[in-house]
Order: sequence, then structure tokens, then C-alpha cells
Amino acid sequence: MRNLSLVAALLAGSAMTTPVLADGHLQIVDGDPLELTIQMNHRAYPIYEEDWPVEQKARELTNVHLVDVTVGANMRTDSENTGRTEALNLMLASGEVPDIVGSSRIRDFVNQYGPEGAFIPLNDLIEEHAPNIKAYYDQRPDIAAAVKAADGQMYYIPYLPDGKYGRAYWVRTDWLNNLGLEVPQTVEEFEAVLRAFKTQDPNGNGEADEIPFFARQWPELIRLVTLWDGRAHGSDTYHDFLVEDGKVSHGYFGEGYREGIKNLARWYAEGLIDPEVFTRGSSARDFLFSENLGGATHDWFASTGGYNSLSSEIEGFELKAMAPPASISGKRVEEHRRILVKPDGWAIGHTNEHPVETIKYFDFWFTEEGRRLANFGVEGMHYDMVDGKPIFKQEFLDAGPVNRSLYQNGAQLQGRGYFQDYNYEIQWTNEFALEGIALYDEGDYLIPDFLGVAFDPEEQKIYDKYWGSVRDYMLERQQAWILGSGDVEAEWDDYLAQLDSLGLQEVLGVMQSAYERQYGG
Ligand code: CA
Repeated sequence: MRNLSLVAALLAGSAMTTPVLADGHLQIVDGDPLELTIQMNHRAYPIYEEDWPVEQKARELTNVHLVDVTVGANMRTDSENTGRTEALNLMLASGEVPDIVGSSRIRDFVNQYGPEGAFIPLNDLIEEHAPNIKAYYDQRPDIAAAVKAADGQMYYIPYLPDGKYGRAYWVRTDWLNNLGLEVPQTVEEFEAVLRAFKTQDPNGNGEADEIPFFARQWPELIRLVTLWDGRAHGSDTYHDFLVEDGKVSHGYFGEGYREGIKNLARWYAEGLIDPEVFTRGSSARDFLFSENLGGATHDWFASTGGYNSLSSEIEGFELKAMAPPASISGKRVEEHRRILVKPDGWAIGHTNEHPVETIKYFDFWFTEEGRRLANFGVEGMHYDMVDGKPIFKQEFLDAGPVNRSLYQNGAQLQGRGYFQDYNYEIQWTNEFALEGIALYDEGDYLIPDFLGVAFDPEEQKIYDKYWGSVRDYMLERQQAWILGSGDVEAEWDDYLAQLDSLGLQEVLGVMQSAYERQYGG
């Protein structure tokens, strides 16, 4: 068919207007373009634009044209894990669901309103019309299970991150050298290093002004309980549940957690942890490194490695990733990783009259060409093919933060279901981050993530009724214990009893039933 249409175009003398690449094998409809309406909201770049070069190229390749009807375009999604967004609620309140709805944190929304009829179930459509999406799920049945609603149907095509590594332990290696210390290999050695940073003036200004450990997101401090065999966050969502031996559990009532909090409280009292760790906020890393005050942190590979550029201002500045120190029982654990599947992506509205063409359009983004377009932008404009691989143009890399540039051209969108290609990121990851990633790869420190569950309406009610107050109480005691207003060991039994009286067991019960339904128990 593709040859016929190309020949037809040539015979008609319109070849000059037909781009060479558009040989038609990705065309979803013949003749006039199929227009589909879209609502799209997401966190990083919350306005959908039909003029994006990526969108224009997708139109050319597929002959499907998305038409923006987004309401609440400037509303950012909420930061909590509720899965609701103001914009999606506004859309629903307007009484019209567009042909396609794409959003960050769309999962809980479509898993609630899909079974009620607002979105089209996708299982059969994928099976029959989306060979590339189906091939992905055939390889990853765990991810296929994770995106299903309580009725067993999929209601959205997710954004699937690529690459394993997220955050790592970082330490000022020039400070270690200044003090004649080695990279710490155990929790005891890590503590000794932090104490030396506090007491031996590694920045050499004659003042005890160093902040040995800090975190720009305070839950990264809680993650240190893994050094005492505790658990903090079961996924890349802070305070999330976790799974152990087929049982849904939570880090914040384990014995390792109690031991960890006890020791972190001691570290805090001894000045080994930033006294402002709970309040300093997102500028902590920028401030404490550029002021030559921060000694160690737990943060993202690429962006943290980038602070080594400070060596032009701070003599000798060197910041390197170190392997997770061995815990009290000798385990080296990196609790954070990139999650395998995001709650972000896109869905088909119930009034869509072209569900087959729409799922084919979704499938286009999982083809080789579509995936490259979603990840790298447009060939010749943002990247060139070199030895069969897309390589970003230097002027594109030089034009500011690469992720931002990609969003602004319609690539790497959270509100689009697509499979990320980590090669897009490696091209602009600094040498310190690459060295750290190699170190973590060698050690195999990652542990499995909890991929989440979808509740049925009864489970949802119980979860909504109890979880908020259980969680608030956990976080309130956690902070109080670290700050020294309270004693975790003395209060532990009361704490566990209070969690139960607030409904912890009920919440774990519905998590477990949903988990067994979703993942086969
Ligand atoms: Ca000092």
C-alpha cells in the first residue's frame, strides 16, 4: 500500500510537496487527516501546543492531527500521591471528555472513572491493533499488571521511564583528602567521616561551619534508615508502601526503622545532620555546595555531579558518588531507583468515535520512529543520525537545560504514553555522574520498587478514610524523634498501638487484597 500511494503521489506530480521520509508506512488513515481532540496537562510543561515540531512531525507521519481542547492548562498537578489533578477534575466537571486525555498522575483518575464509563477499556484494542505496545507488555507482564484497574482493564498507556539509576550517596572527596580519610565503606565509617567533617575544618576557614550531611528533600534523610536495615520509601514516591515476600507493608513500623530513627536522632543531636534539614528546602544543595559548606548528601546522579563545575571557584572542589555504605548487618542498599512505570500517560475518552485509530496512534509512539520522535525530537532539527543512532546537535545541547528544550519542542512529555530511551540522557550526563553510575552498576545495590495498586470502590473508601491520618501521625512522630522531642525507643509500643487505633491494619488489609488481585497474590 505504501508503494502504491507513493507512486500515486508521483504520478499526480505532487512529489515535491511530499517529504521524502513520509513514505506512508506509519499512516493511520488515508485521505483527509483524522482530527482528534486532546486534553493534556503535565507538571513539567503544562501547555499543549499543536505547533510543537514533534507534534507536526507526528501529524506528517501518521495523518492524525491532535487538536487542543485543554481546560485548566496552567494548573499544575498536585504534589501528593492522590492521582487527582485540578485540571482533570475541571475537565470532568465541564461534562465533556475529549478523544484523548493525557496527564501526569492520570492513573488513579482513569482507574476510578474508567470502570464508571468515562474512558474506553484498552485490553482488546491493544491486543488487536497495537502490536508494538503489546510486544512491550508481553515482555513485561509485571508492568502490564501494574497499569490495570480493579476490573482488570487497562485505561491508559503509560509513560515508561528508562534507565535504572536515580539518586546516589555523594561525598566531598577533596574534604576526605584534606583530612587524610578514605571513602567510607560502612555505616560506622560514614559516621566517622561526618564527624570529622564537623570537627576538623575540612574547608579550612578556621570555623566549625561545615554541614556534614544535608538533603534538599528532607525525606532523603529518612532514607538513611536503610543503613540500619530499615526501610523508608517503597518507590520513587516518598513514604510509599513496599512489598516483602508477597506482603504489602510499610517502612515506618519496622524494627530497622526504629533503630535507624534512633541513630539519626543521635546524629542530629551531634550536629552531623543539617540543623535545618526539615526547612531548608530545594535550594539546600545549591547553597551548601556553592558556599563550600556541605559535605555529603543523597541526590540525583546527573544534576549533583554537575556541581563539580564549582572547582573553578572553590579550589580543589571535588564531589563524587560513593557506594551505599554497608548497613549494620553488612547490606549495601540503594533504596531509590527510577520507577519502571509512571502513573502518567494518556487515555481514550468514552465519546471518541475512532478508538481503533486512536490506539493505532498510541501505538505509533512505540514504533522505532515514534519512540525516537518522543525521545529526541525531530531529525535534522534537534538531532542527526550518526552510525544509526540519534545524536543531539551540539547547538541544541548548548541551548540551555536539555530536558526543558525537549519539553518546549514536544518531546519527553509526561502526558504522552511512550517508552523512554535512556540514550537521550547519556549524551549530556557529566563524567562524574557516569563514573558513579558505573560504580552502582558494578555493585548491584538496587531493590525492587512497589509498583502500586488499583482499588475497587470499597477498598478505596477504607483507604481514604484511614490512610491520611495514619500517615500524618507517622510523619509527625518521625520528625519529632529526629529533632529530639521524644524518644523513639521509649515510645515505640505506644506508637504502634496508636497506628493500629488510627486504622493502619485496615489500610494494610485493602492494600493486600488489591495487591493480590493485581499481581496474582
Ligand atoms: Ca570550616
